[in-house]
Amino acid sequence: MAEQPDVEPTGSALGFAKGFGLTFSTMFKKVYTQQYPFDFYPPAPRYHGRHVLNRHPDGLEKCVGCELCAWACPADAIYVEGGDNTATERYSPGERYGKVYQINYLRCIFCGLCIEACPTRSLTMSNEYELALDNRQDLIYTKEQLMAPLLPGMEAPPHPMRLGDDEKDYYTVESQEPFAHGEPQSLANVAGRPITGTAIEVGRHHG
Ligand code: SF4
Ligand code: SF4
Repeated sequence: MAEQPDVEPTGSALGFAKGFGLTFSTMFKKVYTQQYPFDFYPPAPRYHGRHVLNRHPDGLEKCVGCELCAWACPADAIYVEGGDNTATERYSPGERYGKVYQINYLRCIFCGLCIEACPTRSLTMSNEYELALDNRQDLIYTKEQLMAPLLPGMEAPPHPMRLGDDEKDYYTVESQEPFAHGEPQSLANVAGRPITGTAIEVGRHHG
């Protein structure tokens, strides 16, 4: 016959002392409660938060509309439509640019596979996680919402390539030096809090 576990008789003084002793000792332990949203604790530096579409140092967009991020996404959260750059209307240094770009944050599981797939380092992830909204439509972020802001010295596209006449010139370090902006700057979220991490990545093409 199986051995019965030791059970304190209901209402015994020892059981009472054990129960209240645990409660009493807990009162003197360090409290870990965070008074969010009044006290904001930034997440770990490599936290996967909302995405950012980055720019080259002259302001042109790094996205070339290739759709590799959309194909890599296991949740089918990204929608991309590419467009052709022309001699008079250029948005990226390549042949094509991301004409329509959307990320559906109702679907995204923040796995980061899309940023691994991006050949131009256009797409990166920030530390922003305050994405709760009261309607579904606003959780589909558009290209305008995802684009990194223009830093000092950048020019809003469309405009010609300012870092060299051809793609070879464009991606050399020398051509980018006059456009150096120092440390990448951070965005602010809707609550005015800084968005950190790899929020804005100004610099060379890593293709
Ligand atoms: S983080 Fe993952 S789920 Fe979200 S858009 Fe990128 S690939 Fe898709
Ligand atoms: S974000 Fe990167 S992978 Fe996605 S369409 Fe643009 S260039 Fe291609």
